[in-house]
Amino acid sequence: MSDVSMIIGGERRAAPSTFGVVNPATGEVHADAPDCDEGQLNEAFDAAAKAFTDWRTDEDARRSILREASKRLSAAADRIAPVLTAEQGKPLRSAHMEVLGAGYWLRYFSRLEIPREVIQDDEHVRAEVVHRPMGVVAAITPWNFPIMLSAWKLGPALLAGNTVVLKPSPFTPLSTLLMGEILSEVLPPGVLNVVSGGDQLGRWMTSHPVPRKISFTGSTGTGKHIAASAAPDLKRLTLELGGNDAAILLDDVDPAAIVRKLFEGAFDNSGQVCSGIKRLYVPESLHDVVVDALAAQAAAARVGDGMDPDTQVGPIQNRPQYERVCDLVAEALAGGATAAAGGAPIDGPGYFFPPTVLVGAAEGTRIVDEEQFGPVLPVLPYRDIDEAVARANATNYGLSGSVWSADPDRAGAVAERLDCGTAWVNAHVALGPHQPFGGLKWSGVGVENGPWGLAGYTDLQVQYRAKD
Ligand code: NAD
Repeated sequence: MSDVSMIIGGERRAAPSTFGVVNPATGEVHADAPDCDEGQLNEAFDAAAKAFTDWRTDEDARRSILREASKRLSAAADRIAPVLTAEQGKPLRSAHMEVLGAGYWLRYFSRLEIPREVIQDDEHVRAEVVHRPMGVVAAITPWNFPIMLSAWKLGPALLAGNTVVLKPSPFTPLSTLLMGEILSEVLPPGVLNVVSGGDQLGRWMTSHPVPRKISFTGSTGTGKHIAASAAPDLKRLTLELGGNDAAILLDDVDPAAIVRKLFEGAFDNSGQVCSGIKRLYVPESLHDVVVDALAAQAAAARVGDGMDPDTQVGPIQNRPQYERVCDLVAEALAGGATAAAGGAPIDGPGYFFPPTVLVGAAEGTRIVDEEQFGPVLPVLPYRDIDEAVARANATNYGLSGSVWSADPDRAGAVAERLDCGTAWVNAHVALGPHQPFGGLKWSGVGVENGPWGLAGYTDLQVQYRAKD
């Protein structure tokens, strides 16, 4: 039995089979999700292609429908949040915020202008550059922020006049399916189709002949496979991939004043944030005091089931990721690092790992060089700022980074030198729908959000009129 349905052509649809969805707080299957087969995926793409013909024609109608979609989604926060917490693990409060944030994103896009630019208008020629929708978009999301990251794709894709087939991660399909049910009450049939299934379903989507665009958020490894799969058909791509963000403290910071922000930047969503702090570079002179302050925050954080209102840090979302984090930490400790807080999984059911602050880990170890994507932060001392910048940039990733100082201008000058898509001063993971978000190097291709993100769901057309 499946608890929620797929949406194909505006109808609620079960699949021929289902798969179990685990609650990470218990480690047990707590619900089933439809396992979309290839025939149903074809139906979804056909429905999206058919709906595109009308959907693309009326921008005003799209805006008012997106506005209504935003309202319905926000109004459903109390329904969606417990479903999200049960499958994803995050505290209920954060799940609620995620749904409201997604509603906010849709509202932003309902108001965003689709630019038209006259580039020449003289006695000979009038030439205008317009943005046209691409057609059907295949959207694929990961398990850390299923609702928010869906909204990042749906807002611009639908505003621009495209139609969508959306697939959530098989680890967290239920909240997105429920969101699809809610949005299908206001979207015309076929404009948004939501299907669920495993990685194979994603592979069928990216190699399918119908979609003209793939919008993917997930790991760098999968992103590379998707780029290859899109190549034969020259499908357009937006890839939002992994990160290994560095935060650099300058020598004038007051650790007590910033420790809470640093802790949240590293440990929110149990460290499962693409642009979370994953390496912390600290001047040697401040190392011990920063480590102590972070360790105190870590020790005080309440770890538990996200349904418990006292919980601040939920479980790691799934077993493979939990095992990976356990391995990375064990390997670092075996290599000579020590844990100033945490350091070992919590006994009992569920995928619980306490916030862990590691000292003595260095470049060349996996916990520093790879994306840990879990509640573990290595603190790395540095001698001079050029060295810190060089070490922060010595990675294939380039999603975001931050510099912290009592003097924002001084920090800003250092932040500019970071090779990443977003460089914050005295903040980390400060995102907004108006800011283009994307990664350099292996962290992605293209950006989401703002007019720049919207442009990624459009093709440019020059409309040229000769006057003589
Ligand atoms: P993942 O790559 O394993 O899976 C993401 C999605 O891709 C899932 O829906 C999955 O079923 C699907 N998929 C897997 N293999 C596929 C294939 N070959 N073809 C098509 N689809 C396929 O990622 P994950 O483990 O779910 O998410 C964690 C990763 O996502 C982390 O690396 C994190 O940094 C990254 N992430 C990036 C951003 C960003 O905006 N840059 C945001 C959130 C998460």
